[in-house]
Amino acid sequence: MEKIATPAASKKLSLREKYTQMTRGLGWETTYQPMDKVFDQAKFEGIKIHDWDKWEDPFRLTMDAYWKYQTEKERKLYAIIDAFQQTNGHLNISDGRYVNTLKLFLTGISPEEYSAHRLFAMLGRQFPGVGARVACQMQSIDELRHAQTQVHTISQYNKYFNGMHDFRHMHDRVWYLSVPKSYFEDAMTAGPFEAITAISFGFEYVLTNLIFMPFMSAAAYNGDMATVTFGFSAQSDEARHMTLGIECIKFMLEQDPDNVPIVQRWIDKWFWRGYRVLTLVSMMLDYMVPKKVMSWKEAWDIYFVQNGGSLFNDLGRYGIRMPKYWEQTVSCADRLSSEAWNTFYNYAAAANFNTWCPSEENMDWMSEKYPGTFDKYYRPRFEYYREQEKLGKRFYNTTLPMLCQCCQIPLVFSEPDDATKTCYRESDYNGDKYHFCSDGCKDIFDYEPEKYVQSWLPVHQIYQGNCFKPGTDPTVEGFDPLAAVLEYYNFGPGDNMDYVGSPDEANWLKWKGLAKEDAPKKAA
Ligand code: FE
Ligand code: ZN
Repeated sequence: MEKIATPAASKKLSLREKYTQMTRGLGWETTYQPMDKVFDQAKFEGIKIHDWDKWEDPFRLTMDAYWKYQTEKERKLYAIIDAFQQTNGHLNISDGRYVNTLKLFLTGISPEEYSAHRLFAMLGRQFPGVGARVACQMQSIDELRHAQTQVHTISQYNKYFNGMHDFRHMHDRVWYLSVPKSYFEDAMTAGPFEAITAISFGFEYVLTNLIFMPFMSAAAYNGDMATVTFGFSAQSDEARHMTLGIECIKFMLEQDPDNVPIVQRWIDKWFWRGYRVLTLVSMMLDYMVPKKVMSWKEAWDIYFVQNGGSLFNDLGRYGIRMPKYWEQTVSCADRLSSEAWNTFYNYAAAANFNTWCPSEENMDWMSEKYPGTFDKYYRPRFEYYREQEKLGKRFYNTTLPMLCQCCQIPLVFSEPDDATKTCYRESDYNGDKYHFCSDGCKDIFDYEPEKYVQSWLPVHQIYQGNCFKPGTDPTVEGFDPLAAVLEYYNFGPGDNMDYVGSPDEANWLKWKGLAKEDAPKKAA
């Protein structure tokens, strides 16, 4: 049979045409069911979109190109992970303490990559515009890859250190992990436009540098080349995600002036919620990494005050201003990490990583970085703890704290204008009282109380007896509620408590030939 040249076969499509064919060309107006019923979440938030074709696709990436790029990145990453494992790369880190930041990352951040994967899959289904749907579909796949590469990379550490054996289980149960968990679940249970504002803009565009930069440069400074590699592998995806964040904001703002106040309220809300999650990053930078990269205050200054400042300056032309309460994040920047680390030191029994009293060297560094606050408020406290430790009276807080109904962090923050006073707010709703850590969290609750009264607050749940394994009998004589809760968390020996005296420390000293019992052997 003679072959007939069709126009499609004879003419090679340009990249742009190909992209249009493979995105816009795939969408259609439904006829069996009305569009509003098929995309039933598109309107209830009040966002008005008049023309989805105005959506700009900054990357114009087709699926075949996407898979080609990603495959190449995977090949490189897994070659490095293999080499890291074969050469026992975990022995090259600065100190065994460093691994605690990875425990925080694996249980607090990697499961949120997976949450983001689910969230973007839902957005890919819900947006009536094809361009936005394709971008969300790609990001959904990226996020699944991020969760996987992080788990695979950190698995090498799991073979040698405690606290990482059951990260999914812990993520859904351990008290402080409800902070990042509830953040993503709040976004997932919002409408599609709020969800994309929360994650693509609030998280990826405004705050992501404050997670990835500290963790990745800390990894590099502390000899963890495996983590640096998955960070780099995610970075080119991240560039796409950030662009999606800013594009979706500009698109909503350009489509209708009525969208502006709605978007502003979401920016206020998600900035505050994101900032609260970053509390964990602040203590990681200032207290947890053995070789310091930069202080929390320096990071906040560069990545939010300066970069964020010029971003919001730029968005001013749409009528968007800086997020509400941003000034408080600046006035509290020299207290945040110390308030957080003090909390974890107090509740060391119930965290899935090891804590410690800061060394003299760490405290001197803090005095230098925080001249206005550290020596005045925090050094005396840590010195007192150290004294007590020496006397064999290590202080543990055995009373569970009150949690913020919104961000779920214990009420451990100080008043923005007074470092000596606990910040405490409350609201009444349907005859009950609800408690908050800040004005920002109270505002979020007051706008949508029917959502946040449902929060699963770990402390309340423990006191109600909901955090014991099935079959636990709390009425038996000598019942130890803390031990029962740790069993429910699937904690094993060494997962929690102090680094000094932990199995992780003992192993590390042995591997590095620093153990005391090794000394005579070496001398002989
Ligand atoms: Fe990601
Ligand atoms: Zn709060």
